[in-house]
Amino acid sequence: MCVATNGPGNYFRRMTYRGGIDLGGTKVQAAVVDKSGQVVGQSRLPTPTAGGPSDVIDSLTAAMREAAEQAGVETSALKGIGIGSPGKVDNDAGTVTGAKNLPDWGGSVDVRSALEESCGTAIALGNDVQVATDAEFALGSGRPYKSLLGVFWGTGVGGGIVLDGKPWIGRDAAGEIGHVCVRMGGAPCPCGREGCMEAYAGRYAMELRARKEVERGEKTVLFKIMEERGRARLTSGVWARALEKEDELAQRLIERLPAVAAPVVGFGFYPAFTAFAGSQHLSAETFKSLLAELLGNLRRHGARRLVILNTGVSTEKPIDEVAGGATDLLVLHMRGLGAAAETLLDVAEGGHADERETSVMLALEPRSVRMDKLVLDGPFERTGATGDPTRATAFKGERILAARTDDMVAAIARRWPDLVAGR
Ligand SMILES: [Zn+2]
Repeated sequence: MCVATNGPGNYFRRMTYRGGIDLGGTKVQAAVVDKSGQVVGQSRLPTPTAGGPSDVIDSLTAAMREAAEQAGVETSALKGIGIGSPGKVDNDAGTVTGAKNLPDWGGSVDVRSALEESCGTAIALGNDVQVATDAEFALGSGRPYKSLLGVFWGTGVGGGIVLDGKPWIGRDAAGEIGHVCVRMGGAPCPCGREGCMEAYAGRYAMELRARKEVERGEKTVLFKIMEERGRARLTSGVWARALEKEDELAQRLIERLPAVAAPVVGFGFYPAFTAFAGSQHLSAETFKSLLAELLGNLRRHGARRLVILNTGVSTEKPIDEVAGGATDLLVLHMRGLGAAAETLLDVAEGGHADERETSVMLALEPRSVRMDKLVLDGPFERTGATGDPTRATAFKGERILAARTDDMVAAIARRWPDLVAGR
């Protein structure tokens, strides 16, 4: 056997090159990687701010060609090109729909056909944030973990989820943490709703707001810095520089984000379940110090009003102890919420996987309810079910969720009236 180090060897090595393009609201970034994931060519172009989808697709082609040239190949010699795109991505159809941060891209565009034609190789499409999360999971900071929530601050605020090793696509905009409502009736969001996190923290929404304030006569160095840097948009670098210069408007807009959603703490103090084989939980002391650390971190990063929604029963006491009556902290225990919907329940008694919990699951995620697996075996025996889940319905679940939400909003309004009353 002979090993070629030149000529044909290079050719075959190049046959394993792959292309990737990140289509962002500000820039188009293309890269060519070899078999081991090493970058062998890359290029970056600004995303067109005028024109339409065909101009954006021309930029994708140009960026990919430039990266391929650096790697010493034609785009047609690449094994394939993967594209991370904003908007609603349908890889089966090859389309991207409603990418509102791109020029004139309200409808559905066949990205695959256009790029297969111009690049001469196979094209695969994915949601930008989900493919970035998948990449962190496979190659980056997510490698030690089985589950991961990716949050990406850019033109918008994107979120991607990997659960137990699998990308969790969900339905429609599931996992889109940027479109979680953080203020009812709040600032308009590019998605058409009001009060989304992205409306406060997304680059696009912040720029719109800054332009409006300037029209009203506000003074700022933001746009001056933008011009000096030859940018068409307020990039994160521009914001950083303006903050360094203590620009008042920049500071005010950065501080507008009224709420952050902290991740769920799924591991707590659950002594009732120690009888189950393989069951684990934290000691009350460990759980308390975990909670104290989380709260301390949120406070250190500037959170001034904190709400904990506790869904457990055995966790009530340790949480109350950690809270210790702090005035910046509101603790809501699920057990005390949604009383208005209790009359819908046939059996008042119950706890786990009972009529109440099962109704809520039927409303939220019916596919995860497996009635065929149900064994009515009394409290805390093999299945952990109590009460009578066969009486559960999705309708009851919806009413319980609505009643709990009403109670949560009322409790927050009692503590901090300004958070709920208007903007
Ligand atoms: Zn939104």
